[in-house]
Amino acid sequence: MSSPARITHLIAGSPWEGTAERTSPVYNPATGEQTGVLDLASKAVIDEVVANAKTSWVANWQNASLTKRTQVLFAFRELLNARKDEIGALITAEHGKVLSDAIGEVTRGLEVAEFACGIPHLLKGGFSENVSTKVDVYSIRQSLGVVAVISPFNFPAMVPLWFVPIAIACGNAVIIKPSEKDPSAVNAVATLWKEAGLPDGILNVVHGDKEAVDALLDNPDVRAVSFVGSTPIAKYVYEKGTANGKRVQALGGAKNHMLVLPDADLDLAADAAVNAGFGSAGERCMAISALVAVEPVADPLIEKIKDRMGKLVTGDGTRGTDMGPLVTREHRDKVASYLDVEEGSGAEVLVDGREADFDADGDGFFLAPSLIDKVAPGMPQYDDEIFGPVLSVVRVASYDEGLKLINDSPFGNGTAIFTNDGGAARRFQNEVEVGMVGINVPIPVPMAYFSFGGWKASLFGDSHAHGMEGVHFFTRGKVVTSRWLDPSHGGLNLGFPQNV
Ligand code: NAD
Repeated sequence: MSSPARITHLIAGSPWEGTAERTSPVYNPATGEQTGVLDLASKAVIDEVVANAKTSWVANWQNASLTKRTQVLFAFRELLNARKDEIGALITAEHGKVLSDAIGEVTRGLEVAEFACGIPHLLKGGFSENVSTKVDVYSIRQSLGVVAVISPFNFPAMVPLWFVPIAIACGNAVIIKPSEKDPSAVNAVATLWKEAGLPDGILNVVHGDKEAVDALLDNPDVRAVSFVGSTPIAKYVYEKGTANGKRVQALGGAKNHMLVLPDADLDLAADAAVNAGFGSAGERCMAISALVAVEPVADPLIEKIKDRMGKLVTGDGTRGTDMGPLVTREHRDKVASYLDVEEGSGAEVLVDGREADFDADGDGFFLAPSLIDKVAPGMPQYDDEIFGPVLSVVRVASYDEGLKLINDSPFGNGTAIFTNDGGAARRFQNEVEVGMVGINVPIPVPMAYFSFGGWKASLFGDSHAHGMEGVHFFTRGKVVTSRWLDPSHGGLNLGFPQNV
Protein backbone atom coordinates (compact mmCIF):
# COMPACT_ATOMS: atom_id res chain seq x y z
CA MET A 1 0.00 0.00 0.00
CA SER A 2 1.52 3.35 -1.02
CA SER A 3 1.54 6.21 1.49
CA PRO A 4 -1.23 8.83 1.10
CA ALA A 5 -0.37 11.70 -1.25
CA ARG A 6 -0.48 15.30 -0.07
CA ILE A 7 -3.26 17.34 -1.69
CA THR A 8 -3.00 21.10 -1.28
CA HIS A 9 -4.44 24.46 -2.34
CA LEU A 10 -3.79 25.94 -5.78
CA ILE A 11 -3.20 29.62 -5.29
CA ALA A 12 -2.42 32.06 -8.08
CA GLY A 13 -1.81 29.08 -10.36
CA SER A 14 0.66 27.21 -8.12
CA PRO A 15 0.48 24.62 -5.34
CA TRP A 16 0.58 26.21 -1.89
CA GLU A 17 3.98 25.93 -0.28
CA GLY A 18 3.03 26.46 3.37
CA THR A 19 2.55 23.89 6.11
CA ALA A 20 -1.04 23.20 7.09
CA GLU A 21 -2.01 23.42 10.75
CA ARG A 22 -4.76 20.84 10.12
CA THR A 23 -5.27 18.10 7.54
CA SER A 24 -8.04 15.68 6.61
CA PRO A 25 -7.86 12.11 5.18
CA VAL A 26 -9.10 11.30 1.67
CA TYR A 27 -10.19 7.72 0.88
CA ASN A 28 -10.77 5.49 -2.08
CA PRO A 29 -14.30 4.37 -1.14
CA ALA A 30 -14.06 1.22 -3.29
CA THR A 31 -11.09 -0.16 -1.32
CA GLY A 32 -11.44 1.67 1.97
CA GLU A 33 -7.80 2.72 1.65
CA GLN A 34 -6.63 6.21 2.61
CA THR A 35 -5.13 7.69 -0.54
CA GLY A 36 -4.63 11.34 0.34
CA VAL A 37 -3.90 13.85 3.08
CA LEU A 38 -5.64 17.13 2.40
CA ASP A 39 -4.38 20.48 3.69
CA LEU A 40 -7.17 22.45 5.38
CA ALA A 41 -6.98 26.22 4.97
CA SER A 42 -6.86 28.45 8.04
CA LYS A 43 -8.48 31.90 8.17
CA ALA A 44 -5.05 33.44 7.54
CA VAL A 45 -4.63 31.43 4.32
CA ILE A 46 -8.12 32.40 3.14
CA ASP A 47 -7.54 36.09 3.83
CA GLU A 48 -4.26 36.01 1.92
CA VAL A 49 -5.87 34.26 -1.07
CA VAL A 50 -8.74 36.75 -1.15
CA ALA A 51 -6.30 39.68 -1.09
CA ASN A 52 -4.24 38.17 -3.95
CA ALA A 53 -7.37 37.41 -5.95
CA LYS A 54 -8.57 40.98 -5.57
CA THR A 55 -5.23 42.35 -6.76
CA SER A 56 -5.24 40.05 -9.78
CA TRP A 57 -8.86 40.92 -10.58
CA VAL A 58 -8.06 44.64 -10.69
CA ALA A 59 -4.87 44.15 -12.69
CA ASN A 60 -5.85 41.35 -15.07
CA TRP A 61 -9.52 40.61 -15.36
CA GLN A 62 -11.94 43.34 -14.31
CA ASN A 63 -11.44 45.13 -17.61
CA ALA A 64 -10.19 42.24 -19.75
CA SER A 65 -11.94 42.49 -23.10
CA LEU A 66 -14.77 40.13 -23.97
CA THR A 67 -12.57 38.85 -26.77
CA LYS A 68 -9.80 37.92 -24.34
CA ARG A 69 -12.22 36.29 -21.90
CA THR A 70 -13.89 34.32 -24.67
CA GLN A 71 -10.53 33.07 -25.97
CA VAL A 72 -9.75 31.67 -22.51
CA LEU A 73 -13.18 30.07 -22.25
CA PHE A 74 -12.94 28.36 -25.64
CA ALA A 75 -9.45 27.07 -24.82
CA PHE A 76 -10.69 25.79 -21.45
CA ARG A 77 -13.62 24.05 -23.13
CA GLU A 78 -11.27 22.21 -25.49
CA LEU A 79 -8.91 21.16 -22.69
CA LEU A 80 -11.74 19.95 -20.46
CA ASN A 81 -13.23 17.93 -23.29
CA ALA A 82 -9.85 16.37 -24.06
CA ARG A 83 -9.17 15.47 -20.41
CA LYS A 84 -12.63 14.40 -19.25
CA ASP A 85 -11.65 10.73 -18.95
CA GLU A 86 -8.71 11.65 -16.72
CA ILE A 87 -10.89 13.81 -14.51
CA GLY A 88 -13.55 11.10 -14.44
CA ALA A 89 -10.94 8.65 -13.13
CA LEU A 90 -10.02 11.07 -10.31
CA ILE A 91 -13.70 11.34 -9.37
CA THR A 92 -14.17 7.57 -9.27
CA ALA A 93 -11.05 7.18 -7.13
CA GLU A 94 -12.28 9.58 -4.43
CA HIS A 95 -16.07 9.64 -4.75
CA GLY A 96 -16.62 6.03 -5.81
CA LYS A 97 -19.23 6.56 -8.56
CA VAL A 98 -18.74 4.32 -11.58
CA LEU A 99 -16.40 5.63 -14.25
CA SER A 100 -19.06 6.18 -16.96
CA ASP A 101 -21.11 8.24 -14.50
CA ALA A 102 -18.03 10.22 -13.43
CA ILE A 103 -17.23 11.08 -17.04
CA GLY A 104 -20.92 11.91 -17.52
CA GLU A 105 -20.81 14.53 -14.78
CA VAL A 106 -17.77 16.17 -16.39
CA THR A 107 -19.71 16.30 -19.66
CA ARG A 108 -22.65 18.03 -17.96
CA GLY A 109 -20.18 20.54 -16.47
CA LEU A 110 -18.63 21.02 -19.90
CA GLU A 111 -22.02 22.18 -21.16
CA VAL A 112 -21.87 25.11 -18.74
CA ALA A 113 -18.42 26.05 -20.07
CA GLU A 114 -19.93 25.97 -23.57
CA PHE A 115 -22.78 28.21 -22.43
CA ALA A 116 -20.25 30.62 -20.92
CA CYS A 117 -18.41 30.81 -24.26
CA GLY A 118 -21.38 32.90 -25.44
CA ILE A 119 -20.66 35.59 -22.84
CA PRO A 120 -20.30 38.46 -25.34
CA HIS A 121 -23.89 37.91 -26.37
CA LEU A 122 -25.11 37.15 -22.83
CA LEU A 123 -23.67 40.41 -21.46
CA LYS A 124 -25.06 42.67 -24.15
CA GLY A 125 -26.86 45.59 -22.55
CA GLY A 126 -29.79 47.68 -23.72
CA PHE A 127 -29.67 51.12 -25.34
CA SER A 128 -32.45 53.64 -25.76
CA GLU A 129 -31.75 56.69 -27.84
CA ASN A 130 -33.46 60.05 -27.16
CA VAL A 131 -35.27 59.08 -23.95
CA SER A 132 -35.40 62.81 -23.48
CA THR A 133 -34.29 65.33 -26.05
CA LYS A 134 -30.72 64.35 -26.96
CA VAL A 135 -30.45 62.13 -23.88
CA ASP A 136 -29.60 58.43 -24.23
CA VAL A 137 -29.90 55.68 -21.62
CA TYR A 138 -28.03 52.40 -21.63
CA SER A 139 -27.65 49.46 -19.28
CA ILE A 140 -24.49 47.48 -18.64
CA ARG A 141 -23.61 44.60 -16.34
CA GLN A 142 -20.29 44.60 -14.52
CA SER A 143 -18.37 42.01 -12.54
CA LEU A 144 -18.60 41.85 -8.74
CA GLY A 145 -14.93 41.27 -7.86
CA VAL A 146 -13.91 38.25 -5.79
CA VAL A 147 -16.57 35.56 -5.51
CA ALA A 148 -16.53 32.22 -3.67
CA VAL A 149 -17.91 28.82 -4.65
CA ILE A 150 -18.34 26.16 -1.95
CA SER A 151 -19.23 22.73 -3.30
CA PRO A 152 -20.44 19.34 -2.01
CA PHE A 153 -18.89 15.88 -2.35
CA ASN A 154 -21.46 14.33 -4.65
CA PHE A 155 -20.57 16.09 -7.89
CA PRO A 156 -16.91 17.02 -7.41
CA ALA A 157 -16.56 18.35 -10.98
CA MET A 158 -20.05 19.24 -12.20
CA VAL A 159 -21.21 21.43 -9.32
CA PRO A 160 -18.07 23.63 -9.39
CA LEU A 161 -18.54 23.86 -13.16
CA TRP A 162 -22.11 25.13 -12.66
CA PHE A 163 -20.58 28.34 -11.33
CA VAL A 164 -16.88 28.81 -12.11
CA PRO A 165 -17.01 29.26 -15.94
CA ILE A 166 -19.86 31.79 -15.69
CA ALA A 167 -18.25 33.69 -12.82
CA ILE A 168 -14.99 33.93 -14.76
CA ALA A 169 -16.73 34.78 -18.03
CA CYS A 170 -18.54 37.60 -16.23
CA GLY A 171 -15.16 39.05 -15.24
CA ASN A 172 -14.82 37.95 -11.60
CA ALA A 173 -11.96 36.37 -9.66
CA VAL A 174 -13.04 33.07 -8.10
CA ILE A 175 -12.10 31.16 -4.99
CA ILE A 176 -13.42 27.62 -4.96
CA LYS A 177 -13.56 25.47 -1.87
CA PRO A 178 -14.41 21.90 -2.86
CA SER A 179 -15.62 19.18 -0.55
CA GLU A 180 -12.84 17.83 1.62
CA LYS A 181 -14.00 14.28 0.79
CA ASP A 182 -13.05 14.31 -2.91
CA PRO A 183 -10.89 17.36 -3.63
CA SER A 184 -8.65 16.22 -6.51
CA ALA A 185 -11.00 16.77 -9.46
CA VAL A 186 -11.20 20.50 -8.77
CA ASN A 187 -7.40 20.78 -8.61
CA ALA A 188 -7.15 19.00 -11.97
CA VAL A 189 -9.76 21.27 -13.58
CA ALA A 190 -8.03 24.36 -12.15
CA THR A 191 -4.76 23.46 -13.91
CA LEU A 192 -6.71 23.42 -17.20
CA TRP A 193 -7.79 27.03 -16.64
CA LYS A 194 -4.15 28.02 -16.23
CA GLU A 195 -3.26 26.11 -19.40
CA ALA A 196 -6.11 27.89 -21.17
CA GLY A 197 -4.45 31.23 -20.45
CA LEU A 198 -6.43 32.44 -17.43
CA PRO A 199 -4.22 34.94 -15.54
CA ASP A 200 -2.86 33.68 -12.22
CA GLY A 201 -5.02 34.60 -9.26
CA ILE A 202 -8.33 34.66 -11.17
CA LEU A 203 -9.09 31.10 -10.09
CA ASN A 204 -7.83 29.79 -6.76
CA VAL A 205 -8.61 26.49 -5.07
CA VAL A 206 -8.59 26.39 -1.28
CA HIS A 207 -9.36 23.22 0.60
CA GLY A 208 -10.92 23.24 3.99
CA ASP A 209 -13.85 22.80 6.29
CA LYS A 210 -15.97 25.09 8.45
CA GLU A 211 -13.01 27.34 9.31
CA ALA A 212 -12.36 28.06 5.61
CA VAL A 213 -16.06 28.58 4.87
CA ASP A 214 -16.47 30.96 7.80
CA ALA A 215 -13.38 32.90 6.72
CA LEU A 216 -14.83 33.32 3.21
CA LEU A 217 -18.18 34.42 4.66
CA ASP A 218 -16.49 36.94 6.98
CA ASN A 219 -14.08 38.45 4.47
CA PRO A 220 -15.52 41.78 3.22
CA ASP A 221 -13.77 41.45 -0.16
CA VAL A 222 -15.75 38.31 -1.02
CA ARG A 223 -18.74 39.85 -2.79
CA ALA A 224 -20.83 36.79 -3.57
CA VAL A 225 -21.06 33.15 -2.49
CA SER A 226 -22.48 30.20 -4.41
CA PHE A 227 -22.95 27.29 -2.04
CA VAL A 228 -24.23 23.77 -2.67
CA GLY A 229 -24.65 21.22 0.11
CA SER A 230 -27.01 19.95 2.76
CA THR A 231 -29.94 22.10 3.90
CA PRO A 232 -28.72 22.99 7.41
CA ILE A 233 -25.34 24.19 6.10
CA ALA A 234 -26.98 25.97 3.13
CA LYS A 235 -29.22 27.86 5.54
CA TYR A 236 -26.27 28.74 7.75
CA VAL A 237 -24.19 29.97 4.79
CA TYR A 238 -27.11 32.00 3.43
CA GLU A 239 -27.87 33.65 6.76
CA LYS A 240 -24.25 34.43 7.66
CA GLY A 241 -23.32 35.54 4.15
CA THR A 242 -26.29 37.85 3.69
CA ALA A 243 -25.88 39.24 7.23
CA ASN A 244 -22.37 40.20 6.11
CA GLY A 245 -23.79 42.02 3.08
CA LYS A 246 -22.96 39.41 0.45
CA ARG A 247 -25.02 38.14 -2.43
CA VAL A 248 -25.64 34.45 -1.66
CA GLN A 249 -27.26 31.56 -3.51
CA ALA A 250 -27.27 28.45 -1.30
CA LEU A 251 -28.61 25.26 -2.83
CA GLY A 252 -29.62 22.72 -0.20
CA GLY A 253 -30.75 19.14 0.22
CA ALA A 254 -33.59 17.25 -1.40
CA LYS A 255 -36.19 14.53 -1.11
CA ASN A 256 -37.38 13.92 -4.64
CA HIS A 257 -40.70 12.21 -5.29
CA MET A 258 -41.69 10.27 -8.38
CA LEU A 259 -45.46 10.08 -8.76
CA VAL A 260 -46.67 7.10 -10.80
CA LEU A 261 -50.28 7.17 -11.97
CA PRO A 262 -52.16 3.94 -12.77
CA ASP A 263 -52.12 4.66 -16.51
CA ALA A 264 -48.32 5.01 -16.68
CA ASP A 265 -46.10 2.77 -18.79
CA LEU A 266 -44.89 0.62 -15.90
CA ASP A 267 -41.76 -0.64 -17.66
CA LEU A 268 -40.67 2.93 -18.33
CA ALA A 269 -41.50 3.86 -14.73
CA ALA A 270 -39.62 0.87 -13.31
CA ASP A 271 -36.52 1.64 -15.40
CA ALA A 272 -36.71 5.28 -14.31
CA ALA A 273 -37.14 4.45 -10.61
CA VAL A 274 -34.13 2.13 -10.63
CA ASN A 275 -31.91 4.46 -12.67
CA ALA A 276 -32.82 7.54 -10.66
CA GLY A 277 -32.92 5.77 -7.30
CA PHE A 278 -29.62 3.94 -7.48
CA GLY A 279 -27.46 5.80 -10.01
CA SER A 280 -24.37 7.20 -8.24
CA ALA A 281 -25.46 5.11 -5.22
CA GLY A 282 -28.34 7.52 -4.65
CA GLU A 283 -25.88 10.31 -3.88
CA ARG A 284 -27.47 12.77 -6.30
CA CYS A 285 -29.45 15.80 -5.24
CA MET A 286 -31.89 14.89 -8.05
CA ALA A 287 -32.07 11.18 -7.14
CA ILE A 288 -35.54 9.75 -6.69
CA SER A 289 -35.86 8.62 -3.10
CA ALA A 290 -39.64 8.45 -2.66
CA LEU A 291 -41.66 6.50 -5.19
CA VAL A 292 -45.28 7.58 -4.79
CA ALA A 293 -47.49 4.87 -6.27
CA VAL A 294 -51.13 5.71 -6.93
CA GLU A 295 -53.05 2.48 -6.25
CA PRO A 296 -53.51 -0.07 -7.68
CA VAL A 297 -50.09 0.48 -9.26
CA ALA A 298 -47.80 -0.33 -6.32
CA ASP A 299 -47.70 -4.16 -6.43
CA PRO A 300 -47.08 -4.59 -10.17
CA LEU A 301 -44.58 -1.72 -10.19
CA ILE A 302 -42.67 -3.13 -7.22
CA GLU A 303 -42.39 -6.51 -8.97
CA LYS A 304 -40.84 -4.86 -12.02
CA ILE A 305 -38.47 -2.81 -9.86
CA LYS A 306 -37.33 -5.85 -7.85
CA ASP A 307 -36.72 -7.73 -11.07
CA ARG A 308 -34.44 -4.95 -12.33
CA MET A 309 -32.67 -4.55 -8.97
CA GLY A 310 -31.78 -8.23 -9.05
CA LYS A 311 -29.67 -7.64 -12.16
CA LEU A 312 -27.57 -4.79 -10.75
CA VAL A 313 -23.93 -5.37 -9.78
CA THR A 314 -22.53 -3.24 -6.98
CA GLY A 315 -18.78 -2.91 -6.72
CA ASP A 316 -15.61 -1.08 -7.67
CA GLY A 317 -16.61 1.62 -10.19
CA THR A 318 -13.51 1.02 -12.31
CA ARG A 319 -14.69 -2.51 -13.18
CA GLY A 320 -17.79 -1.79 -15.26
CA THR A 321 -20.16 -2.37 -12.34
CA ASP A 322 -23.58 -0.67 -12.20
CA MET A 323 -23.22 1.02 -8.84
CA GLY A 324 -20.23 1.99 -6.70
CA PRO A 325 -19.70 2.49 -2.98
CA LEU A 326 -20.84 5.35 -0.76
CA VAL A 327 -18.42 8.17 -0.14
CA THR A 328 -17.27 7.36 3.42
CA ARG A 329 -17.67 4.50 5.85
CA GLU A 330 -19.55 6.78 8.23
CA HIS A 331 -22.04 7.77 5.51
CA ARG A 332 -22.47 4.14 4.41
CA ASP A 333 -23.29 3.11 7.99
CA LYS A 334 -25.76 5.96 8.41
CA VAL A 335 -27.57 5.08 5.16
CA ALA A 336 -27.62 1.37 6.11
CA SER A 337 -29.21 2.26 9.46
CA TYR A 338 -32.40 3.31 7.60
CA LEU A 339 -32.91 -0.38 6.75
CA ASP A 340 -33.64 -1.05 10.43
CA VAL A 341 -37.31 -0.16 10.19
CA GLU A 342 -39.17 0.28 13.43
CA GLU A 343 -41.29 -2.72 14.34
CA GLY A 344 -44.99 -2.02 14.06
CA SER A 345 -44.43 1.00 11.80
CA GLY A 346 -45.95 -0.85 8.85
CA ALA A 347 -42.87 -0.35 6.64
CA GLU A 348 -41.40 -3.49 5.05
CA VAL A 349 -37.85 -3.93 3.77
CA LEU A 350 -38.30 -5.76 0.47
CA VAL A 351 -34.65 -5.72 -0.64
CA ASP A 352 -31.88 -5.31 1.97
CA GLY A 353 -28.66 -4.09 0.37
CA ARG A 354 -26.61 -5.15 3.40
CA GLU A 355 -27.02 -8.78 2.37
CA ALA A 356 -25.50 -8.47 -1.12
CA ASP A 357 -22.13 -9.54 -2.54
CA PHE A 358 -19.86 -6.86 -3.96
CA ASP A 359 -17.49 -6.96 -6.92
CA ALA A 360 -14.50 -5.33 -5.22
CA ASP A 361 -11.27 -6.00 -3.34
CA GLY A 362 -10.45 -4.56 0.05
CA ASP A 363 -12.87 -3.11 2.55
CA GLY A 364 -14.95 -0.59 0.59
CA PHE A 365 -17.96 1.39 1.74
CA PHE A 366 -20.61 -0.66 -0.07
CA LEU A 367 -24.34 -0.95 0.32
CA ALA A 368 -26.34 -2.51 -2.52
CA PRO A 369 -29.64 -1.08 -3.80
CA SER A 370 -32.38 -1.40 -1.20
CA LEU A 371 -36.16 -1.11 -1.35
CA ILE A 372 -38.60 -0.32 1.45
CA ASP A 373 -42.36 -0.56 0.95
CA LYS A 374 -45.22 1.14 2.83
CA VAL A 375 -43.16 4.09 3.98
CA ALA A 376 -45.11 7.12 5.24
CA PRO A 377 -44.53 10.64 6.57
CA GLY A 378 -43.40 10.58 10.18
CA MET A 379 -40.95 7.73 9.56
CA PRO A 380 -37.26 8.69 9.30
CA GLN A 381 -37.13 6.77 6.00
CA TYR A 382 -39.55 9.36 4.60
CA ASP A 383 -38.69 12.48 6.55
CA ASP A 384 -34.88 12.41 6.21
CA GLU A 385 -32.78 12.97 3.13
CA ILE A 386 -31.10 9.55 3.18
CA PHE A 387 -28.71 10.30 0.28
CA GLY A 388 -27.95 6.67 -0.49
CA PRO A 389 -29.28 3.69 -2.48
CA VAL A 390 -32.50 3.29 -0.52
CA LEU A 391 -35.75 3.70 -2.44
CA SER A 392 -38.92 4.10 -0.40
CA VAL A 393 -42.37 3.30 -1.77
CA VAL A 394 -45.24 5.43 -0.49
CA ARG A 395 -48.69 4.14 -1.45
CA VAL A 396 -51.44 6.70 -2.05
CA ALA A 397 -55.06 6.41 -3.17
CA SER A 398 -55.21 9.26 -5.68
CA TYR A 399 -53.35 11.91 -7.67
CA ASP A 400 -54.54 14.53 -5.17
CA GLU A 401 -53.16 12.59 -2.21
CA GLY A 402 -49.83 12.19 -4.02
CA LEU A 403 -49.68 15.88 -4.92
CA LYS A 404 -50.43 16.91 -1.32
CA LEU A 405 -47.67 14.64 -0.05
CA ILE A 406 -45.14 16.24 -2.41
CA ASN A 407 -46.27 19.78 -1.66
CA ASP A 408 -46.17 19.15 2.10
CA SER A 409 -42.50 18.14 1.90
CA PRO A 410 -40.14 20.79 3.22
CA PHE A 411 -37.89 20.14 0.20
CA GLY A 412 -38.65 21.20 -3.37
CA ASN A 413 -35.67 20.32 -5.54
CA GLY A 414 -36.85 17.88 -8.22
CA THR A 415 -39.88 15.70 -8.89
CA ALA A 416 -41.35 13.62 -11.69
CA ILE A 417 -44.72 12.33 -12.80
CA PHE A 418 -45.17 9.16 -14.85
CA THR A 419 -48.43 9.02 -16.79
CA ASN A 420 -49.83 8.76 -20.29
CA ASP A 421 -52.48 11.35 -19.48
CA GLY A 422 -51.46 14.76 -20.83
CA GLY A 423 -54.09 16.52 -18.74
CA ALA A 424 -52.76 15.00 -15.51
CA ALA A 425 -49.20 15.88 -16.48
CA ARG A 426 -50.20 19.45 -17.21
CA ARG A 427 -52.01 19.77 -13.88
CA PHE A 428 -48.94 18.43 -12.13
CA GLN A 429 -46.49 20.86 -13.74
CA ASN A 430 -48.83 23.68 -12.72
CA GLU A 431 -49.70 22.54 -9.18
CA VAL A 432 -46.52 21.00 -7.83
CA GLU A 433 -44.38 23.20 -5.56
CA VAL A 434 -40.98 22.05 -6.78
CA GLY A 435 -38.32 23.87 -8.81
CA MET A 436 -37.53 21.19 -11.41
CA VAL A 437 -40.21 18.90 -12.83
CA GLY A 438 -39.94 15.85 -15.06
CA ILE A 439 -42.80 14.44 -17.13
CA ASN A 440 -41.93 10.80 -17.82
CA VAL A 441 -38.32 11.93 -17.13
CA PRO A 442 -36.94 10.96 -13.72
CA ILE A 443 -33.94 13.29 -13.28
CA PRO A 444 -34.99 16.57 -14.88
CA VAL A 445 -31.65 18.40 -14.60
CA PRO A 446 -31.98 21.54 -16.73
CA MET A 447 -29.55 22.13 -19.58
CA ALA A 448 -26.83 24.73 -19.01
CA TYR A 449 -28.79 27.47 -20.81
CA PHE A 450 -31.72 27.03 -18.41
CA SER A 451 -31.19 27.47 -14.67
CA PHE A 452 -30.88 24.79 -11.99
CA GLY A 453 -32.46 25.18 -8.59
CA GLY A 454 -35.14 24.03 -6.22
CA TRP A 455 -37.76 25.67 -4.05
CA LYS A 456 -38.34 25.77 -0.28
CA ALA A 457 -35.54 24.21 1.83
CA SER A 458 -33.72 23.17 -1.35
CA LEU A 459 -32.55 26.70 -2.16
CA PHE A 460 -31.93 29.81 -0.09
CA GLY A 461 -31.68 33.02 -2.11
CA ASP A 462 -33.30 34.22 -5.29
CA SER A 463 -30.98 32.98 -8.02
CA HIS A 464 -30.75 29.51 -9.45
CA ALA A 465 -27.49 28.18 -10.88
CA HIS A 466 -26.25 28.76 -14.46
CA GLY A 467 -28.29 29.97 -17.44
CA MET A 468 -29.20 33.66 -17.41
CA GLU A 469 -29.79 33.54 -13.65
CA GLY A 470 -26.12 32.61 -13.29
CA VAL A 471 -25.04 35.52 -15.46
CA HIS A 472 -27.17 37.88 -13.38
CA PHE A 473 -25.89 36.44 -10.11
CA PHE A 474 -22.27 37.06 -11.06
CA THR A 475 -22.79 40.60 -12.38
CA ARG A 476 -24.44 43.78 -11.20
CA GLY A 477 -26.45 46.11 -13.33
CA LYS A 478 -25.72 49.76 -14.01
CA VAL A 479 -27.83 52.17 -16.02
CA VAL A 480 -26.19 55.21 -17.58
CA THR A 481 -28.08 58.32 -18.63
CA SER A 482 -25.96 60.43 -20.94
CA ARG A 483 -26.12 63.73 -22.74
CA TRP A 484 -23.31 65.16 -24.76
CA LEU A 485 -23.20 68.89 -24.38
CA ASP A 486 -24.59 71.10 -27.05
CA PRO A 487 -25.62 74.76 -26.91
CA SER A 488 -29.23 73.92 -25.96
CA HIS A 489 -28.70 72.95 -22.30
CA GLY A 490 -31.53 73.98 -20.05
CA GLY A 491 -29.79 75.86 -17.23
CA LEU A 492 -30.64 75.53 -13.54
CA ASN A 493 -33.71 73.50 -12.48
CA LEU A 494 -33.96 71.91 -9.00
CA GLY A 495 -37.08 69.88 -9.86
CA PHE A 496 -36.98 66.09 -10.29
CA PRO A 497 -35.71 65.24 -13.80
CA GLN A 498 -38.56 64.84 -16.29
CA ASN A 499 -38.27 63.74 -19.84
CA VAL A 500 -39.15 66.17 -22.54
P1 NAD B 1 -22.34 19.33 3.20
O1 NAD B 1 -23.38 20.33 3.53
O2 NAD B 1 -21.84 18.43 4.27
O3 NAD B 1 -21.03 20.07 2.62
C1 NAD B 1 -21.12 21.02 1.58
C2 NAD B 1 -19.97 22.00 1.72
O4 NAD B 1 -20.07 22.66 2.98
C3 NAD B 1 -18.60 21.31 1.71
O5 NAD B 1 -17.71 22.11 0.94
C4 NAD B 1 -18.21 21.29 3.17
O6 NAD B 1 -16.82 21.35 3.38
C5 NAD B 1 -18.89 22.52 3.73
N1 NAD B 1 -19.26 22.37 5.15
C6 NAD B 1 -19.51 21.21 5.80
N2 NAD B 1 -19.84 21.46 7.09
C7 NAD B 1 -19.81 22.81 7.24
C8 NAD B 1 -20.06 23.68 8.35
N3 NAD B 1 -20.42 23.23 9.54
N4 NAD B 1 -19.94 25.00 8.14
C9 NAD B 1 -19.60 25.48 6.92
N5 NAD B 1 -19.34 24.69 5.85
C10 NAD B 1 -19.45 23.38 6.00
O7 NAD B 1 -22.89 18.50 1.94
P2 NAD B 1 -22.25 17.20 1.29
O8 NAD B 1 -22.48 16.05 2.21
O9 NAD B 1 -20.89 17.48 0.79
O10 NAD B 1 -23.19 17.05 0.00
C11 NAD B 1 -24.41 16.38 0.00
C12 NAD B 1 -25.57 17.35 0.19
O11 NAD B 1 -25.55 18.34 -0.84
C13 NAD B 1 -26.92 16.68 0.08
O12 NAD B 1 -27.76 17.23 1.06
C14 NAD B 1 -27.40 17.04 -1.31
O13 NAD B 1 -28.79 17.05 -1.50
C15 NAD B 1 -26.85 18.42 -1.43
N6 NAD B 1 -26.73 18.82 -2.84
C16 NAD B 1 -27.65 19.69 -3.29
C17 NAD B 1 -27.61 20.07 -4.62
C18 NAD B 1 -28.61 21.03 -5.15
O14 NAD B 1 -28.48 21.42 -6.29
N7 NAD B 1 -29.61 21.44 -4.41
C19 NAD B 1 -26.61 19.58 -5.47
C20 NAD B 1 -25.68 18.68 -4.95
C21 NAD B 1 -25.76 18.31 -3.62
